[in-house]
Amino acid sequence: MTDRIREFLRTRRPEGPCLVMDLDVVRDNYTTFARSLPDTRVYYAVKANPAPEILTLLAEMGSSFDCASVGEIEMVLATGAKADRISYGNTIKKERDVARAFELGVRLYAVDCVAEVDKIARSAPGSRVFCRILSDGAGAEWPLSRKFGCDPDMAPMVLEHAHRVGLEAYGVSFHVGSQQGNTGAWDGALASASHIFREMAERGIQLKMVNLGGGFPTKYLKDVPKVETYGNAIWDSLLKHFGNQVPETIIEPGRGMVGNAGVIKSEVVLISKKHDDDDVRWVYLDIGKFGGLAETMDEAIRYPISTEHGDEHLVPCVLAGPTCDSADVMYEKTPYMLPVSLSIGDDVLIEGTGAYTTTYASVAFNGFPPLKAYVI
Ligand SMILES: *Cc1c(COP(=O)(O)O)cnc(C)c1O
Repeated sequence: MTDRIREFLRTRRPEGPCLVMDLDVVRDNYTTFARSLPDTRVYYAVKANPAPEILTLLAEMGSSFDCASVGEIEMVLATGAKADRISYGNTIKKERDVARAFELGVRLYAVDCVAEVDKIARSAPGSRVFCRILSDGAGAEWPLSRKFGCDPDMAPMVLEHAHRVGLEAYGVSFHVGSQQGNTGAWDGALASASHIFREMAERGIQLKMVNLGGGFPTKYLKDVPKVETYGNAIWDSLLKHFGNQVPETIIEPGRGMVGNAGVIKSEVVLISKKHDDDDVRWVYLDIGKFGGLAETMDEAIRYPISTEHGDEHLVPCVLAGPTCDSADVMYEKTPYMLPVSLSIGDDVLIEGTGAYTTTYASVAFNGFPPLKAYVI
């Protein structure tokens, strides 16, 4: 919580659930990434929070952008940033979207199989492609599973194919899993990447770039290592695996860029018990899984929550959202401890909610409007 957000909420008293983003925090985060990984270009992962004010600030500061769709590419171009600062990083693209991105000037694309390479060869001829490899996501609180990337053993074949059909086989990418708490998590993937570089060199193709992806955490309930610690660990791994031929690198922070810049203000709609003798109270807020808190799925992300009552006499509370879907319960397995004096109508502040909230809010499930956002 920053003074500016506190002041905004106190003076403006916005109606309904809303996210308030402090641009000063985003500015600090960008500076920290740029300083902690000095030889690395920053490609902000737009999906984390595409508010125009955030994209414009980052464009002014010199950031590049990781986009997953034509819509995101257009949002970035609307800031005035040129297309040479955009990576189309989604491995799953319709060919007509590739063609549209190419028309808009995008020349850098992610692939993880031959069929995707062929789409790019046809609709974005001559472009640079990097091959995403699988990563197990161990140590991450929001792992990204097997959906993206191919086995590292397969990558040389995909990249050689790209070279053969007239594309520039440019590099390798991976994502170690979002909210990655282990600063050493990049090491294994960098070992694989260096093998792929060597294998390609033997085939006469010089790769140039490693895309280190996102994964940099936001502080929720537990402390997290500093970005600088991640930067040092990544640099050590690069030296270990690439020796004196360290490639060009990029990072794609999403959560780590905007997570701690936002606070959601919500309101208690109802407090009840399921039985008179229960110790646990059910606290229903005016925001839930469908209003922007989708990352509470399986209670994966646990946000810091505060009220105006301080923290005396806390009681266990299940936290649930306002919709008529029984899946709309945020925290039940591990209840939150909240003040016994918390009452219907009180504000509840959910901190660290700058990433993956506005973009995850449904349009109008049960007639509830999507999450409102104020960028200050
Ligand atoms: C979502 C995503 C990111 C951002 O990940 P964070 O863990 O939020 O930093 C980066 N790169 C790609 C390709 C992504 O899909």
